[in-house]
Amino acid sequence: MSSSPRQHPVTMEKLVSLCARRGFIFPSSEIYGGINGFYDYGPLGVELKNNLKTLWWRRMVRERDDVEGIDSAIIAHPRLWEASGHTDHFTDPMVDCRACKKRFRADQLDDAGKCDARDGSSEHDLTEPRNFNMMMQTQIGASEEDATVAYLRAETCGPIFTAFKRVREASRQKIPFGIAQIGKAFRNEINPRNFTYRTREFEQAELEFFCRAEEADKWFEYWLDERMRFQRDIGIDPAKLRSRPHDAEELSHYCLRGEDIEYEFPFGWQEFEGIHHRGTWDLSRHSEFSGKDLSVTDEETRERTLPTVIETSGGMDRTCLVLLVDAYDEEELEGGETRTVMRFHPALAPVKVAVLPLSKKLREPARALEAGLRRRFNTFYDESGNIGRRYRRQDEVGTPFCITVDFDTLEDRQVTVRERDGMSQDRIPIDAVEAVLAERLELPR
Ligand code: ATP
Repeated sequence: MSSSPRQHPVTMEKLVSLCARRGFIFPSSEIYGGINGFYDYGPLGVELKNNLKTLWWRRMVRERDDVEGIDSAIIAHPRLWEASGHTDHFTDPMVDCRACKKRFRADQLDDAGKCDARDGSSEHDLTEPRNFNMMMQTQIGASEEDATVAYLRAETCGPIFTAFKRVREASRQKIPFGIAQIGKAFRNEINPRNFTYRTREFEQAELEFFCRAEEADKWFEYWLDERMRFQRDIGIDPAKLRSRPHDAEELSHYCLRGEDIEYEFPFGWQEFEGIHHRGTWDLSRHSEFSGKDLSVTDEETRERTLPTVIETSGGMDRTCLVLLVDAYDEEELEGGETRTVMRFHPALAPVKVAVLPLSKKLREPARALEAGLRRRFNTFYDESGNIGRRYRRQDEVGTPFCITVDFDTLEDRQVTVRERDGMSQDRIPIDAVEAVLAERLELPR
């Protein structure tokens, strides 16, 4: 449905404005001027993100018998981050401009723009790069003297490794199997930008898949295919989707192979998910630092061994941004009017169906229909204004179906279902509405 070509490419200005105006996403603490790198999801944004997380969870955990889910604490034992290398190495190179005082990532200077504080030059006057640790710190304890420094997790995978032994034993899983979680992560990014693309608080959905070293390449290919398939299934335009292998310099020191899943945003091709071959790095470090044996018995050789890890690591906020950019369209209609349409896949759309009586006198049957549908779908009821304007308001937030109740409905017990993308209208019995919608709101299988 959403793969039809867009008539007007979206700009970030238009998208950011629509997101605020219609209550998808807006700056956190907006009435105080916002806080850089933090965003709030409004009534429609939270539905969109919840739909994405639910579909991810269903595909990655519920529909499989070789993946278990967890939900771990945001704050972990500080030793976890020592073992993972974050305390010492989770850094980005930072530079400052002595003139305009702006701060940049040394590896992203292409985006630094011009300096507006120098005479005779628009070049920034940059300091030498220095490493900046991106872990966010907090303190645990009642009084400041006794407090222990702790960190808000910088990624959700750390606690998966520390829970590995417990989860494997409790769920009686054998290699190969995976552990997945969705949750918040925090990074003190030097330069948050591009709306929700790079923020300081965000959600990740990660899978750590534990397998035999001999099968790591096979599983890497499998998970890369599977994740690309998911992105296409949720409606992302395949022409704007690609995967790109990491070259040697891009790989983290523990990573044996990596591939990014990228989307063509208005600001260029950028990663929103990664597949990584992490070898035995994590389990071996946590074994060493905790003193606990995290090895398993290899079913074939009967030897004790540390499983190898293939990871899929995606950002839920970045993926929501992909969905928003990808859905946006402006369509010229006959008569010179333009409508803005968010062409979300119906399974992702925040509101599934709007019930619109053609007259306030039809409130009772329309409300009754909406109440029935509400038990199953996120619905919206609107009885004010002309019907064309009501349709436009729903198009602009991507509601895939509008149902109009008219005076004939009282006689024939039928309603009109109007579809968002083609604007086609079908008359169907009220009693069939729920089943018709349910079928059209599913992801492909
Ligand atoms: P980048 O190079 O963009 O900083 P990364 O390669 O460090 O990202 P990972 O550590 O692999 O990213 O994180 C996995 C996923 O988490 C990313 O693909 C992205 O979707 C999400 N993510 C990472 N950092 C941020 C951030 N600052 N804001 C929003 N999402 C993020």
